[in-house]
Parts: sequence; structure tokens; C-alpha cells
Amino acid sequence: MTEKPDIKSMNLTELTSFVTGLSEKSFRAKQIYQWMHHKQAASIDEMTNLSVLFREKLKQECRFVSLKQVDVQISKEDGTRKYLFALEDGNVIESVLMRYKYGSSICISSQAGCRMGCRFCASALGGFVRGLLPSEMLEQIYRISKDIDERISHVVVMGTGEPLDNYDNLLKFIELLTDENGLHISRRNLTVSTCGIVPEIYRLAEEKLQITLAISLHAPSQEKRRMLMPIAEKYDLKELLEACRYYFEKTGRRITFEYALAAGVNDMEQEAEELSKLLKGMNCHVNLIPINPVRERSFQGSGQREVLAFKEQLEKNRIHVTVRRELGRDIDAACGQLRKRYMEGNLKGQE
Ligand code: SAH
Repeated sequence: MTEKPDIKSMNLTELTSFVTGLSEKSFRAKQIYQWMHHKQAASIDEMTNLSVLFREKLKQECRFVSLKQVDVQISKEDGTRKYLFALEDGNVIESVLMRYKYGSSICISSQAGCRMGCRFCASALGGFVRGLLPSEMLEQIYRISKDIDERISHVVVMGTGEPLDNYDNLLKFIELLTDENGLHISRRNLTVSTCGIVPEIYRLAEEKLQITLAISLHAPSQEKRRMLMPIAEKYDLKELLEACRYYFEKTGRRITFEYALAAGVNDMEQEAEELSKLLKGMNCHVNLIPINPVRERSFQGSGQREVLAFKEQLEKNRIHVTVRRELGRDIDAACGQLRKRYMEGNLKGQE
């Protein structure tokens, strides 16, 4: 059985040919597009300027992707909200709303599960299911924005999954998210984080999008990185940095390097020095964050003193660096933990 077309993943041109294919006038496509991406309607029935007959026809002819909220945890410390959504096929994904002085930012998942297997991460523990559709990525933002009745200013693709392992859907998602007829999020306010799939970084560079690329680096040497991230076996550190330089050349966008500090693993003076050497002269920014301990993983986050010392060492070497504020520490903060807990069936009764 072929699946019905997913209209929320279509751009206006595609939607127009779909609608005219149903023998409807092309301006109907604009109306539907507005309902979906501007007004963020949760169902076809909300599209009240379409006739009941046409709405029924639409329901029969297409698939209207909408996420169901299963759970939300709200941090008492900083207002961070962690949402759990159910997809139509019963899989669950998580998304996080973070509040900053400059506005609200949503961290979305790009896949259900992940196959990258980073050793400190909870996302891969439940295995890999599938990449998310553009509509399923957008819906995470639409549902949260509706829930808090606020406009979202920033989006980071840093939740569960590897976005560059879902390349085509990611690109379509970016097109729709930044479209002036939709939410119209500025490309500069969108960050895509990758563990370092080198060929896809080159591919993305050619698109010349003004988005921020974040690289999960986590180690200053190939030897150490291999121990933390299996992807390093496939694409080594040298290749990765070359791809980053190319990305900067093509887009003019400064790369962000994510560096999660694990106590006694990658947080010593030696690593800070190695990292400074590695990034010297590169137009980049380093984001430090202590590792979030995951029950099934053996890593511990570095202490405040070590984080600060690491930061100062980098600064001394003139590397741009910030320590990422840890948000939502009192709710399942680390990537994939809420989803995992849900899948294990013990979300209830945790209060
Ligand atoms: N696959 C992409 C995006 C998802 S992971 C990537 O690897 O970048 C988002 C970020 O969270 C990555 O930098 C990842 O390495 C980091 N991360 C995963 N588990 C973590 C943990 N337990 N503590 C701190 N950061 C973690």
C-alpha cells in the first residue's frame, strides 16, 4: 500500500500541484499552507475557510501529520519544558523548550532513536527506529509554540538523532521553517548539530545556507575521540576539521564546536592545550558543557572548578569559548532520557 501524501512536508509549489490535482483552485493551496505553517492548525477541521466537502476530500486524499503530546515536564528552576510527543506510528520523541533572555528556543529531535552510538549519550540506548519527516520536525515546534502561546525565535536540531543521517528531510524542514509564508524563522537562528558525518558536511556547505553548524567534537585528538564516538572510526578528526574549514569558506558562518566535559576523561589541562592547538586560527566558537551523567553510561560530568579551568585555558590561548548554561537539571535533562524512561514504561509514579 502506498502511503497518502504528507501535505505538511510539501512546499507551496508541491502543495499547489497536489491541490489542483484534486480539481481545486490553486489559491486553496495557499490557504491550506497558511493554516498549517502560519496558524499551526492541529487538524484539517480547523481550516474553516475551506468547505466541509473539501475538508472531507482532503482527509481522504492526504495524510495530515500531527503530534500528540504525551507528557510535559516543567523545570521549577528555570522554566525549561521537556515534551514527549507520540508519532502516528506509536513511536515517541522528545523536544525541549528553553528560555533565554533573547527569547525562546526549541531543541528538536531529528530521528526516533539514533544509530551513532556515542558512548556518553542516552539516545542510542533504545536503538534506532527511523528518521523523522519534515512535518514531524516542524510539528514539534508548532505544538510547543501553541502550547505556550508564544512565538519561537530560535531552533536547534540537537535532540535525539543525527540530522545529517536524515539529510533530505532535514533540508526540506529548513526550507519550510524559514519560509516567509510559514513561521519564518531566520536561518541565522537555526543551529544544526552533527557528530561529524564528513560527506554530508560538504554537501551542506554547497547549499550555502546561513545556518549555524555545530560539531560535536568532545575530544582534541583522534585517539580520544574514537573512544567516545564510533563515528570517528569512519571519519577521522583531520578530515572533520577540513570539512569544517570548507563549510566556513563556503558559507562564511563560524563553526560551533560542542565539547562535553567528562571528569578525568577529556577535561585536563593537556586536553585544553591540545584543543587550543587544534583550533588555532580557525574562525570558531567552543561551547563547553559538563557531561550529563546517564545511568547506563559510566561517565561523570566535570566539576565546576574543572570546567572553569578548562575555559580559562582556552581563553588564554585566544579561543572563543562559552560554558553552556545547564537548563532543566531537575527534569530528565540529558538527551533521550525522558523518551527512554517512557519506553521502559516507568514514567508514571516518578514524582
Ligand atoms: N547527533 C547530533 C545531535 C544530537 S546530540 C550530534 O551528535 O551533535 C546533541 C548534543 O548533545 C551533542 O553535542 C551530543 O554529543 C551531546 N550529548 C549527548 N549526550 C550527552 C550527555 N550525556 N551529556 C552532555 N552532552 C551530551
